[in-house]
Amino acid sequence: MSASASVTRFAPSPTGLLHLGHAYSAFFASAAAGPDGRFLLRIEDIDQGRSRPAFEAAILEDLGWLGLAWETPVRRQSAHMAEYGAALSRLERDGLLYPCFCTRADIQREIAEAAAAPHLVKMGPDGPVYPGTCRHLTKAEQQQRMDSGTPYALRLKTHEAMAAAGPLTWHDEERGTFEAAPDVFGDVVLARKDVPASYHLACTWDDALQGITLVTRGEDLLAATHIHRLLQALWKLPVPRYRHHRLIADAGGKKFSKRDHAPTLRALRESGATPERVKGMLGS
Ligand code: GLU
Repeated sequence: MSASASVTRFAPSPTGLLHLGHAYSAFFASAAAGPDGRFLLRIEDIDQGRSRPAFEAAILEDLGWLGLAWETPVRRQSAHMAEYGAALSRLERDGLLYPCFCTRADIQREIAEAAAAPHLVKMGPDGPVYPGTCRHLTKAEQQQRMDSGTPYALRLKTHEAMAAAGPLTWHDEERGTFEAAPDVFGDVVLARKDVPASYHLACTWDDALQGITLVTRGEDLLAATHIHRLLQALWKLPVPRYRHHRLIADAGGKKFSKRDHAPTLRALRESGATPERVKGMLGS
């Protein structure tokens, strides 16, 4: 591999059909690898409640139709839960996690109550930040709830983790150097109640494990990089370079997303569009 070559990846979640935004992201990652680089595909399917084998098959079909070529084997995250568990144990051993028994309704109630004093409600990139309720439980209280079978997530003690790691930076090739500010998310969930992992955990772990040297993804995930940088420091992983790309929008300026029922690649293909036409629609 030449000096300008990178190892990049496209990491979709098989929870729906790919749309134009995904096509843009996949082309971006593949091109960013450079002619002598390596382009990998990772299926981010830890959310087994929402992931479907049919959507994974559609991802491979759509990307192949677009003319993209990726290295095999494809890494499928659901096959690596034990690795994520081991990564989690390392943080647990360092006293950087705590169990959170809150339900969504508990959290919403707390936030609504605190809304009477808005300065107490901290907003993060994904909405109001977790108010830290379970952080204050004693060991005995934690144990009692666990013994009674109450489901729990594991959250990172973000401030302690930042103190342990010291000041951190990361570099986006187009936007420059950022000082890591993982506390914008508060105490993030690293293991969900239903899945013993989370996007932040599995993505950071896999980027290192797969030897990704340049992480490319949409700018909607730029803030997530603050957390990933912190996890890299805690696990002593190599730090990749980053390139967060713009999100493509429809003619009315609205960003494409699965939720908005953006035109899927399959629908475009079935209506007779060619890969060249799709590239034209992406302006690439
Ligand atoms: N699986 C994530 C998604 O589909 C992408 C994660 C990433 O590229 O870091 O939004």
